[in-house]
Amino acid sequence: MRNLDWSARGRARVYVLTVLGTAVCIAVAFVVDSFSFETWTWRWGRDPHNNIIIPLLLAPFFFYLLLNKMRQLSIAHHELAHLAATDSLTSLLNRRAFTEVVEGYIQRMASSANRSTDALLVIDVDHFKTINDHFGHDIGDEALKQIADAICAGLQPPDLAGRLGGEEFGVFLPAKTAEGAAAIAERMRQSVREVAFAPGGSPRRLTISIGGVIFDDCPTFRDLYRKADEQLYAAKHSGRDCVKLDFARPASKSA
Ligand code: GH3
Ligand code: MG
Ligand code: MG
Repeated sequence: MRNLDWSARGRARVYVLTVLGTAVCIAVAFVVDSFSFETWTWRWGRDPHNNIIIPLLLAPFFFYLLLNKMRQLSIAHHELAHLAATDSLTSLLNRRAFTEVVEGYIQRMASSANRSTDALLVIDVDHFKTINDHFGHDIGDEALKQIADAICAGLQPPDLAGRLGGEEFGVFLPAKTAEGAAAIAERMRQSVREVAFAPGGSPRRLTISIGGVIFDDCPTFRDLYRKADEQLYAAKHSGRDCVKLDFARPASKSA
């Protein structure tokens, strides 16, 4: 819908600029025709109506053609940028785009006076290989899509989700307390458990393990990811289907 609005606005802009461009051409034609560069004086040209008719015949055509081509190029550019940032299976941000957005946020926060607590979650589907092995890769893909939807269901802007690769997802939660982040992670875990996944008619429970890091300074994405991944590893070793969060600061306690 937003794309349609944007496209309609772009078309309107082409029409307005075509009219403006034509008007400028008419004005220029009048100036060139009416100004004597020999005497530096103004006088009417011999056929002043030609200053309107000729630009009116030619300019709209050229302006429309040029501006419309520029609009199409701009749309294609936006679509390409969107494709380059999106994971084609889940429509979430891909790893590169997700990392860039989080890094950008951390950098902005580094120069901000109002520092908040943020959280990065790394989510991995439990025993996903067995789903592929039992039901095939296509059904595995379907499960990944449903899991991605369940993960996103509990998020609200400016929260951000991305597919980091394979059956691993990342969620960035800006301006959240440790308790808030833990509650969101727990809701996510629950909603994945409730996904109606029934390959071949027989229901199969999907579960995820979540590792996360809460931080209020400005570490690098790589450090955050490593810390969250350690927690994910701990969640896997605690039997999976659970959430483990920690603070990024050394003198911290587990949430
Ligand atoms: P664990 O609980 O330890 O995470 O076990 P796991 O089976 O989920 O982990 P493992 O790393 O052994 O297997 C991950 C599987 O995810 C293997 C790979 O084939 C599958 N996978 C990765 N990307 C995709 C994908 O895009 N589609 C499908 N269908 N499967 C994928
Ligand atoms: Mg897994
Ligand atoms: Mg994995």
